[in-house]
Amino acid sequence: MKSNLVILYHREPYDEVVENGQTRYLPKKSPNGIVPTLKNFFASVKQGTWIAWKQVNSKQKADFQERVTVEDGAGYNVRRIPLSADQVKHFYHITSKEAFWPILHSFPYHFTYESSDWQNFHTINRLFAEAACEEAADDALIWIHDYNLWLAPYYIRQKKPNARIAFFHHTPFPSVDIFNILPWREEIADSLLCCDIVGFHIPRYSENFVNVARSLREVEIVKREPVPPQITPVGTALAEPDFTTQLRYKNQLVNIDALPVGTNPQGILSVLHKPETQKRLVEIQQAMNGRKLIFAAGRVDYVKGTREMLEAYGRLLERRPDLRGKVNLMATSVSAAAGMRVYKTTQHQIEQLAGKINGQFAQFDWVPIMLFTQPVPYEDLICYYHTADVCWTTPLRDGLNLVAKEYIVAKEGQGGALVLSEFVGAAVELPEAILTNPYSIDRMDEAIDQALAMPEKEQKERMAKMYETVTKYDVNYWADHLLELFESTNPEKTSQQEVVSV
Ligand code: UDP
Repeated sequence: MKSNLVILYHREPYDEVVENGQTRYLPKKSPNGIVPTLKNFFASVKQGTWIAWKQVNSKQKADFQERVTVEDGAGYNVRRIPLSADQVKHFYHITSKEAFWPILHSFPYHFTYESSDWQNFHTINRLFAEAACEEAADDALIWIHDYNLWLAPYYIRQKKPNARIAFFHHTPFPSVDIFNILPWREEIADSLLCCDIVGFHIPRYSENFVNVARSLREVEIVKREPVPPQITPVGTALAEPDFTTQLRYKNQLVNIDALPVGTNPQGILSVLHKPETQKRLVEIQQAMNGRKLIFAAGRVDYVKGTREMLEAYGRLLERRPDLRGKVNLMATSVSAAAGMRVYKTTQHQIEQLAGKINGQFAQFDWVPIMLFTQPVPYEDLICYYHTADVCWTTPLRDGLNLVAKEYIVAKEGQGGALVLSEFVGAAVELPEAILTNPYSIDRMDEAIDQALAMPEKEQKERMAKMYETVTKYDVNYWADHLLELFESTNPEKTSQQEVVSV
């Protein structure tokens, strides 16, 4: 049976485990991230397929199982594209991370062209597209995720002129001057202009895309609208008062959507309220022994601004001797996969700087920074969020920043101060955070001072408002909004409505 919904995402939606020599495909253990939300979309269709890549060696490729079923009763198949280690390296670790990632995050200085393998990128996008076309019914919705698959819409449209194609960017989308550095810009823009829906986290990113399209092709703006009510329309770095929601290119009507992904408050609160978590919280409180906890969570990545944050923390301890021994910075900076050579320097800088600050200020019974370079389990992360007096999340650039939203939920609207970069998508939803500019030494210093000095009453007022926002505009709100959008672009549905209205 052909699928009504096909999702293309580079990650597999299951954990593969071998038990007694048998391979089993179990639902992912980790409850966070976007995968559980995307899987829920299959509940609204008769048949669904998820397409992902799987790295295999030549021996594994010989008897490779293309289709697998996940044992989670969600009624969908997974179609896997077998890729060699070399293909993965060039597609994912090099072309995606060394060419696209710096451009998407407005770091043209890190952009490297020479090592990119554009033909390999085409090939893998074509393999995904061909698999999608084989699995999809003629009028299916084919939903593609992220820049790794930028060319898939083009290949799908060639084979399935009637399919509805939606594309969602999980990253920022840069301004036209930066995007147009990409030597392959026309092919990428043409592919996105084959879509029925192109989605982004926030209107600034979608406006950037529209400007790219207008700079490269003769597109017609069909509709503009004010930004959704939860988005700050003016006065901060990523604010936009209104945005294009529909454009036409040749015969294709392209709907443009901008809505930030939400977090899963129920999931976070259910972990928080478990008896084991409550017990652990008491242990952490006791271990903190009255010291203030500043918590920063993230991956090793130059876009995350961890170096700038550590420098600000070093300056804080320098100018405020009264804080020495009274505050701890707990920073997770999860190491990247082994093949990601682009992150090596960043990881080295972070480890070196944390060591330097610890060496400079440590006392016999106090170390100023606890740095974790291995992923902190989700349950522990929630304990640290809940305990933290301050959450410090100041990337130089970030598509959304789920960490900020998770912190707000884990504090349950009680106290706590959120220091948030103006250059992350979530900043336009959270004006009550202490918004700061991580490029400015002064702004960073002011922000952390303000967070540590914020009276409890003000903390509670700000957090209560942010809690309301994050729990209202959660991941279910995002999913419902998209389902509505998918329905409204369904030609069958639209023509039925037209008949009724006549
Ligand atoms: N995270 C985690 N363990 C860690 C650090 C982060 O599980 O040690 C999770 C965190 O809960 C969040 C995600 O990783 O859900 C990071 O998402 P975010 O949008 O902040 O950044 P991204 O890594 O997607 O750029």
